[in-house]
Amino acid sequence: MRSVLKNTRLKGALLLLAAALLPLILSVAFSLFQAQKTVQRQLQANASILINQADSISDEAWNMVSRIRQLEGQPCEAIEQQLQRYGTLYAYFRSVGVTSADLITCSSAYGGEQAKLETMIRQPLPAMNKAWWSFSVAGTYGVPDRPAVLFYRRTPTGYGSYAVVEAQYLMDFMRAIYEQRGYQISMQFGDGYPISTQSGEIQAPSYLSPAPLKTQSTRYPIHVTVKSTGSEIADVWWQTFLTFLPMALILAVMLVGLLVTWLKRRMSFADDMRRAIAHGEFAVWYQPVYNIELGCCAGAEALMRWQRPNGEWVRPDVFIDAAEREGMIIPLTHHLLDLIARDAKNWTVPPGFHLGINVAAEHLQHPDFVSDIRDFAVRIAHLNATITLELTERSLIQDGEEVAKRLALLQQEGMRIAIDDFGTGHCALSYLEQFPLDYLKIDKGFVNTIESEHGETPVLEAIISLSHRLKLEVLAEGVESAMQYRWLREHGVSFIQGYLYARPMPNADLMRWMTSYGHVAPDDMSLHGSTNRAGIVINT
Ligand code: C2E
Ligand code: CA
Ligand code: CA
Repeated sequence: MRSVLKNTRLKGALLLLAAALLPLILSVAFSLFQAQKTVQRQLQANASILINQADSISDEAWNMVSRIRQLEGQPCEAIEQQLQRYGTLYAYFRSVGVTSADLITCSSAYGGEQAKLETMIRQPLPAMNKAWWSFSVAGTYGVPDRPAVLFYRRTPTGYGSYAVVEAQYLMDFMRAIYEQRGYQISMQFGDGYPISTQSGEIQAPSYLSPAPLKTQSTRYPIHVTVKSTGSEIADVWWQTFLTFLPMALILAVMLVGLLVTWLKRRMSFADDMRRAIAHGEFAVWYQPVYNIELGCCAGAEALMRWQRPNGEWVRPDVFIDAAEREGMIIPLTHHLLDLIARDAKNWTVPPGFHLGINVAAEHLQHPDFVSDIRDFAVRIAHLNATITLELTERSLIQDGEEVAKRLALLQQEGMRIAIDDFGTGHCALSYLEQFPLDYLKIDKGFVNTIESEHGETPVLEAIISLSHRLKLEVLAEGVESAMQYRWLREHGVSFIQGYLYARPMPNADLMRWMTSYGHVAPDDMSLHGSTNRAGIVINT
């Protein structure tokens, strides 16, 4: 019993810890999720601003390229000045010019000095089949160490016009964002050189940083990648977590409070039961079973009763269920066996008298089960009775093989095995063959379906014939009327238990009852006695 108690305490402590930590863990996780979302939104916002800037620069550049196109085919001397004017029109044009077969024939920077377009951008021209394209480059012939963007338009006749735009403006913009937020940004026009803030200044990415955001312009082939730093996420996360914290703490306190109340009630129920055992509030009542073939009492089922000191009775199904839930069923069954052994000291019963004991699933699975029952058998050996273990279908589901072995062992030692409340559990019929069973107790619910002496109750009839085929003895529970009794007798049921024959009675009445009524058939009982409301048979 002590180890059960220790286990319950440990479980309680673990539950309390879980209840206290759960809201905190949830708010840490939720605020991290929120922080990542917030940072993602900020990345998106900054990328959009940058793309807008790049789009409007592209608009200006393409306008310029269109304007220069008007000058195509004219000699350089005629258009040189115009080109120079265009070149200085906007601060961010590095140079503008015209080409013929990708050869610069006239430009704002070098006038009529001819050069290959490739020489100006210091790299081969991209393989483009388009008439219009833009392309970022690391530098140009005149300014080799500063990125720029080439906007180029080629006509089918071989003429072309171009504008080279300074990337410095975009880079200043990126740097401003970097200084404010620490974002690492890179921007590419076409498949060209990635324009970015200096990589040396960028903080190393941390495990907290979200995946870099990659986005692009809807109007031009401009791609932007923005990457946040881990410390930003950590900052936003901390801020979000602080706003959640008071709520999480209140929730933790509430959960712990609820749990403490619940645990206290649980503990107090188990304590209550332990106290009731110590104060002798439990007693065993016995309900006689009738053997139809022999026409006499075949035995009795032991049923636990609990009466509190104030006289109030606790219903068995209530306290048995609670005992099973609170880990008290094994101590309670030990107590039951003690009480029966004490009661049985003064009994005289016919040899082979069946003493039915209800066994809970948990007890059946317990390693001490076989020795508990053997010890009990020794203590009532003087009776020469047959112990019948009543098991529910539920108790056979777990550890089937081990349980079958234990039952077979006890069966060999003279005990009998009954399956209780048959038909109410979720047991497969195959269990009936797998386990060493002797009796099948048909639940009261099926007996209630008998409506008239010659009426049909297909399920009940199927259960009875199945038991006969499996060579199991059948006991019908909850038999309350003579009509039900006669029906069951006609259909080959051998044992009857129910209010018609006898209600459960205290030990003090059992021997007296056996002498007076043991041989009276159930349907003659009403002629012999009546029962009071507590279920005690009063002889008349
Ligand atoms: P059970 O094992 O099916 O016990 C038969 C129940 O049917 C008993 O209820 C009994 O009083 C009731 N009964 C018998 N004949 C009639 C009848 O003609 N009409 C009606 N309406 N009821 C009848 P009880 O004593 O209230 O026990 C309820 C359940 O509690 C039992 O069902 C059993 O599952 C459990 N129980 C009782 N005592 C013990 C025990 O010592 N150990 C264990 N593990 N379970 C027990
Ligand atoms: Ca039973
Ligand atoms: Ca039953």
